[in-house]
Amino acid sequence: MVAAMGILVGGGFTERALDVALLVTMISFPIGLLITMLNIDLYLIHHRVREYKISAETDHLTGLVNHRAWEMQMKKFKGQYATCNVLLLDIDHFKQINDQYGHANGDEVLKQFAELLHRETRNQDIKARIGGEEFGILIPMLSQTEVVNVAERIRNSISKHEFKLLDDERIHLSVSIGIANGKSEHLREMIRLADECLYEAKNSGRNRTHVTESVVG
Ligand code: GH3
Ligand code: MG
Ligand code: MG
Repeated sequence: MVAAMGILVGGGFTERALDVALLVTMISFPIGLLITMLNIDLYLIHHRVREYKISAETDHLTGLVNHRAWEMQMKKFKGQYATCNVLLLDIDHFKQINDQYGHANGDEVLKQFAELLHRETRNQDIKARIGGEEFGILIPMLSQTEVVNVAERIRNSISKHEFKLLDDERIHLSVSIGIANGKSEHLREMIRLADECLYEAKNSGRNRTHVTESVVG
C-alpha cells in the first residue's frame, strides 16, 4: 500500500487527494460488503418463506393441496372463473384396506391414488386431499358433460389400476364421485350438492359417479 501511494505521489497526485481516496475506500468497502450480505440474507428469507408457504399448503403424504389450501383456492376460484365444477371423491371401503394390509399399505395406496388424479387432470385443476381418503378437485370452465367425462375417466382408471403394496402384492379398488357444476359464485352451495351426490353414489352401490340430479356410470 505504502509503495502504491509512493507511485501515485510520484505520478502527480497530492497526498491530501490520496488520503481522501483511501478514506473513501476504507468506508465504502465495508458498506458494500454489508449491503451484499443483507441482499443474500433477504434472498434466503424470501426463499425460506416460500418453502414454509408451500409446506403449509401441501398434504405431506400425497403432495396434493391440503384442506386449508383447498379452502383458499375456493375463494380464488370465485373471482377468477365464471363457471366451475366441484368433484368430491371418496375411496370405497378404504377401512378394509387398512384392516387387511395395515396402515402403511393404506398410506401407499393413498399416494398412488393421488398420482392417478394428477395423471388424469390438467395442471390448472386443483387437486386436494380434504380428509383421510377423501379428495376434492376444482375444475374450471368445463360443461357438465365434459366434467362427467373427466370423472368417469378418473373412476375407470382407478378401477383398472393395480395398486402396488409394499411387499409387491397388487390390489384393486374403486372410488365414488359426486359432482356439482355451476357458476363459481355459488361454490359453497356446489360443495354441498357435490357432497349429496357423493352420498347418493355410495348409497346406490359405490364405484359410480353422481352429478347433481342425473346418474352416470
Ligand atoms: P366407504 O366406502 O363408505 O367410504 O367406506 P370406507 O371404509 O372408505 O370409509 P370409512 O370412513 O369407514 O373409513 C375411512 C378409513 O380411512 C378409516 C381411517 O382409518 C382411514 N384413514 C384416514 N386417514 C388415513 C391415512 O392418512 N392413512 C391411512 N392408511 N388410513 C387413513
Ligand atoms: Mg370417507
Ligand atoms: Mg371411503
